[in-house]
Amino acid sequence: MTRENPARPGIAAFAAYRLVPDLPVPVRAKLDFNESPYDVPDEVKEKVLSRLKARRWSLYPEFGATRLREAIAASLGRSPEEVVVGNGSGELLLAAMNVFAGGGRLLLTPPTFSLYPQLALLAQAEVATVPLSGDDFLFDEEAILRAVRAWPTVPLICSPNNPTGTPADPAFLRKLADAAPVALLDQAYVDFAPPEASALALVDEGRNVVVFRTLSKAYAAAGFRIGYAVARPDLVRELAKAVLPFSVDQASEELGVALLEDPGPARARVAELVRERERMAAALRGMGAKVAPSAGNFLFVEPPGGGSESVRTELLGRGILVRDLGPSAGDRLRVSIGLREENDLFLAGLREITERKGAP
Ligand code: PMP
Repeated sequence: MTRENPARPGIAAFAAYRLVPDLPVPVRAKLDFNESPYDVPDEVKEKVLSRLKARRWSLYPEFGATRLREAIAASLGRSPEEVVVGNGSGELLLAAMNVFAGGGRLLLTPPTFSLYPQLALLAQAEVATVPLSGDDFLFDEEAILRAVRAWPTVPLICSPNNPTGTPADPAFLRKLADAAPVALLDQAYVDFAPPEASALALVDEGRNVVVFRTLSKAYAAAGFRIGYAVARPDLVRELAKAVLPFSVDQASEELGVALLEDPGPARARVAELVRERERMAAALRGMGAKVAPSAGNFLFVEPPGGGSESVRTELLGRGILVRDLGPSAGDRLRVSIGLREENDLFLAGLREITERKGAP
């Protein structure tokens, strides 16, 4: 019996999001997913578990996740009406594409987060692109503004950008918000950037922006799904229409609330990761690698002498996982910042591989 693929043609033709490769050896340094190398502290885990135990698991979580929205809003000095929470920020990005760009045009700046084109496909948004420019992968501000002014196009800017680490200048984002129907600003990594990189001031100024954030990175909560978006209350109300009811389960809600009750430990760990990022970048440049200036918890690296795919495979053989992002990212690897020992393993592995390649 022949079976026709009943999926929409665009979906059938789309290559699914890639998963982790099979590992030939035990993992010694997991630097491939931009996760936090630090786990959530035990005291926080205990607190969450006891609060969860006291809840009724047979009931739906609180509608609208008010407690979590209030905790997020309080941590940012804002009002809960400006916050919507989702099952990771990925869910909110899809919701925003459906609400603001579905059936229309979305502008992306590759290389950028590989999930965006898939979400655009689901939202049936046509994708236009303005690539990042030069060895430092900077936003081509003039070209982006021109593209947005020429057509009604919703720009999705990732700042700091995954995988390059490049932050966008908020003055440019302000112009973009004024030129576009609405600007979608993914700030999943903003906690690792200097405070000036935050786009929240644009919300205060009443502009048409939606800022996406997550507790997956700086707060080390990727194993639970806690994302949020911040925008003017009228935009939040529209966005919330495309988020499924109860999409944040009560375990994630309790963890989010507990993490935000005492953000001190997460902030200290962010500061340590930023120090490690700068140490790694300097060491890599010292080896002759090209490294884009990063404001995230990762670096975008062209290994000395190139050959990023073979370098990745050799690192994998040593139990060191880094991310290869395919042709759109050029000959580069994305390396998440891990614990000092993991970072040292990566640096030593790369040095050895490069020296051997360079040997006659
Ligand atoms: N945005 C960017 C740029 C990301 O890199 C990621 C995760 N890799 C996300 C959003 C999604 O994060 P989460 O769903 O865990 O909140």
